[in-house]
Amino acid sequence: ALTGHRGWKPAWRDAAPRASYDYVIVGGGGHGLATAHYLARTYRKARIAVLEKGWIGGGNVGRNTTIIRSNYLLPGNEAFYELSMTLWESLEQELNYNAMVSQRGIMNLIHSDAQRDAYRRRGNAMILHGADAELLDAGQVRREAPFLDFGNARFPIRGALVQRRAGTARHDAVAWGYARSADRHGVDIIQNCEVTGFDIAHGRVRAVETTRGRIGAGTVGVAVAGSSSRVMALAGLRLPIESHVLQAFVTEGLKPVLPGVITFGAGHFYVSQSDKGGLVFGGDIDGYNSYAQRGNLPVVEDVCEGGMAVMPMIGRARLLRMWGGVMDMTMDGSPIIDRTSVDGLFFNGGWCYGGFKATPASGLAFAHLLATGEPHATARAFRFDRFSTGRMIDEKGAGAQPN
Ligand code: FAD
Repeated sequence: ALTGHRGWKPAWRDAAPRASYDYVIVGGGGHGLATAHYLARTYRKARIAVLEKGWIGGGNVGRNTTIIRSNYLLPGNEAFYELSMTLWESLEQELNYNAMVSQRGIMNLIHSDAQRDAYRRRGNAMILHGADAELLDAGQVRREAPFLDFGNARFPIRGALVQRRAGTARHDAVAWGYARSADRHGVDIIQNCEVTGFDIAHGRVRAVETTRGRIGAGTVGVAVAGSSSRVMALAGLRLPIESHVLQAFVTEGLKPVLPGVITFGAGHFYVSQSDKGGLVFGGDIDGYNSYAQRGNLPVVEDVCEGGMAVMPMIGRARLLRMWGGVMDMTMDGSPIIDRTSVDGLFFNGGWCYGGFKATPASGLAFAHLLATGEPHATARAFRFDRFSTGRMIDEKGAGAQPN
C-alpha cells in the first residue's frame, strides 16, 4: 500500500459479460466461486461465468464467524461435512493461496448427563464416518480452558465433545482464493451484474436476464444463499426456505486467550479468537424473516448473556463491531443441492447458519451435479423432494446449530 499499489496485478480479471456461456453460476459467494473453480479445474469444463450482483465476498462468505468443523450426527450430513473438512486441509495447496486455515479445534461444552449421552452418540457417529472426536470430562476441559465459568450453578460444565481437526479459516481469503483460481482456469467473474429474470422456454432455461443484459446459458446453477427464495421466484419456483438475519460480533484485539473454538451447550453462543486478536462470537438468528443485513437488540442481549454465562471474562472486552448476514433457513436445517423442475436450472442453498464450513464440498458437489447431471455421492440426501417424502435430515441440536 505504501507504493500506492503500483505494479500490483488484480487477483482476477474484471470480466465483461459475453453473449452466452455453457455454464452460468448465479452468486459470487463462497459456494458459487468454489463451484466455478471445481467445474473448471476438476471437471475440465469451459465457457463458465459467475454473475455477482455486488462484489466478490460482500455476502455471507465475508460475514460469517469462520468456524469449520465436521461434527455432524446424521448419515445424510456427516460424510459430506467430513469431505469438506478434508478439502479444507488441502485447500491452500489446491488454490496456492493463504486462506489461514487453522485447525485449532472446537469444544462443544456439555452441561447435563443427557447432553453427554447425546454428544457421545454424535462423537461415535463422527468416528464411524472417519472423522475425529474426543469426549472430555470436566477436569480435562478445565485444564484446556481454565477461564470458563466452572462455578455456574445453572449451567455447570460437565465435559465437552471436541473435534481437534476443526477450527477457523480467513473467510474472505477463501472467496478471493477461489476467485483467483477460477479466473486462472478461464472463468469470467462478472461483478455488479444482478440476475433479474430467467428466460425459460418449453420447460428449459435458455438465458438469464441481468442488469448488464441478457446472457445465454446452457446450464444455470443458482447459489445465492440468503437471496435464494427471491431469485428462484424469478423462475416461478417456491422453496422450503425462510430468510433470517444472523448477527456476528468482534471485540477489540486481545493477546492470545482462547485456544480454539468454544460453543456453549445450554444456549446459543460460540466464540473464537481471530489472528488479529479480536474475540469473534455469535448466537441465534433474529426471530423474524428479513432480507436486511442488520439485526436487532434482543438478539444482541441474548448473545451477550450467553457469553457471560459461559466465560464472564468476555464482559471485560470492548465490543468493536457487529454486523448481520441473511441466512437461507430450510425447515430441517440441512441444505439442498439439486436439479429443479426447469431443465438446465440447478439449485444450491438452504445452508442455514452453517454453510461456510461446507464451501469446498458444496462447490465440488454442485460442480459434479452441473457437469454430470448426477448428484455427488456425499450429497445424495440434499434433495428438494425430502420435504414431500418426509425424509428430513433433521440435525437440530446437533449439526444445524449456529456456526
Ligand atoms: P454469499 O457470500 O452470501 O453468496 C451469495 C451471493 O449471491 C452474494 O454475494 C449475493 O450478492 C449474490 N446474489 C444474490 N442475489 C443475486 C442475484 N439476483 N444475482 C447475482 N448475484 C446475487 N457458516 C459456518 O460454516 N461457520 C460459521 O462460523 C458461520 N458463521 C456465520 C455467521 C454469520 C453472521 C453469518 C451471516 C453466516 C454464518 N455462516 C457460518 C453461514 C455461511 O456464511 C453461509 O452459509 C455461506 O457463506 C453461504 O454461502 P455463500 O458463501 O455462497 O453465500
